[in-house]
Amino acid sequence: MKPSIAIIGAGLAGLTLARELRDQAEISLFEKARGLGGRMSTRRNATHQWDHGAQFFTARSQAFTSLLAPFIDAGTVVEWQPNIITLSPSDKPFKRPWFEPHYVAAPGMNFLLKAMSDGLNIQLSTRVETVTRAHDQWQLYDENNQLLGEYDWVVSSAPLPQTQALLPKALLGDDLAQYQMLPCYALLLTVDDADLPHWDAAKVNHSAIRWISFNHRLPGRNMKAGTVVVHTGSDWAAEHLEDDQEQVKETLLNTFCELTNISSHKITGAQLHRWRYALSAEVLEPESEFILNAEQGLAACGDWCLGGRVEAAFTSAHQLAKALRQALV
Ligand SMILES: Cc1cc2nc3c(=O)[nH]c(=O)nc-3n(C[C@H](O)[C@H](O)[C@H](O)COP(=O)(O)OP(=O)(O)OC[C@H]3O[C@@H](n4cnc5c(N)ncnc54)[C@H](O)[C@@H]3O)c2cc1C
Repeated sequence: MKPSIAIIGAGLAGLTLARELRDQAEISLFEKARGLGGRMSTRRNATHQWDHGAQFFTARSQAFTSLLAPFIDAGTVVEWQPNIITLSPSDKPFKRPWFEPHYVAAPGMNFLLKAMSDGLNIQLSTRVETVTRAHDQWQLYDENNQLLGEYDWVVSSAPLPQTQALLPKALLGDDLAQYQMLPCYALLLTVDDADLPHWDAAKVNHSAIRWISFNHRLPGRNMKAGTVVVHTGSDWAAEHLEDDQEQVKETLLNTFCELTNISSHKITGAQLHRWRYALSAEVLEPESEFILNAEQGLAACGDWCLGGRVEAAFTSAHQLAKALRQALV
């Protein structure tokens, strides 16, 4: 009989791991959100959509390039060649070249994960609240103390603070307590395309805002309705993390209008999203692409092992899958 593995989190790391181990094990994925994506999510309403987490990704390793190849052929992953500038409140904007391919998924960032999830056993809207040991197996419970199942192995692909809350401290050790994940605010706007400047995206310096993208202009969106994604810097987000959220929205809206010279009257909708655990502050030391305790049947992976970013999430899970394949024989 194949060993059973519960994977907590269906972001890129969790899905990569599940795909790579599905021939060796019975895999069950648990995801607390209603949809797939994690920090590569796309928010939608009837007329608009915003990629409010990861904006693009690069592919530097052979393994990640190989994963992407069939999705590029299918048009689910597309190279993005925006007219990108650098903006600041005091200096003149200037064009910013990119020196390697940057990719996005289409028609929304989470479509790569949707395509990857084909054939996997995933329970959405299911938050794993506790993980306990009984009858030589790991038992997972949800927030209503309902048993979700018993498994030979548990792997968490949740951001580090959430993994720390779930898995026994002995697996992670005291050293990890010093590692932090940094927050980010995403301001999601609706603005008519005709009212936006000619550039598509901006890296912003010397401001609460770090990034602006005219999201509807990304390849494969086919949306007439103009949508803007604005991200703050992590320092600013950390300083204002518990502030009144209406006030944060107002401040960012004003900053956006000043930076871009767009009149606030042109903005027809604004929502705020707070990412508590957006990015990793640093890579693990000593360097470790994942965490594994084969004796206990516990493991953890995710972008936080390797300093954040989409490709780091893939690499961490891909390397853990290799190690687990050996541990499972
Ligand atoms: C605002 C922002 C901008 C970014 N921009 C970029 C960028 O431009 N380029 C780039 O390369 N990277 C970017 N990143 C980082 C990139 O999104 C991440 O590195 C990557 O998506 C992480 O994937 P992951 O699978 O490791 O984690 P996640 O995507 O966070 O997946 C973990 C999953 O676990 C779930 N989960 C957590 N706890 C539980 C629980 N108890 N029970 C069940 N499920 C649970 C979560 O809901 C989540 O879906 C950005 C991130 C943010 C937030």
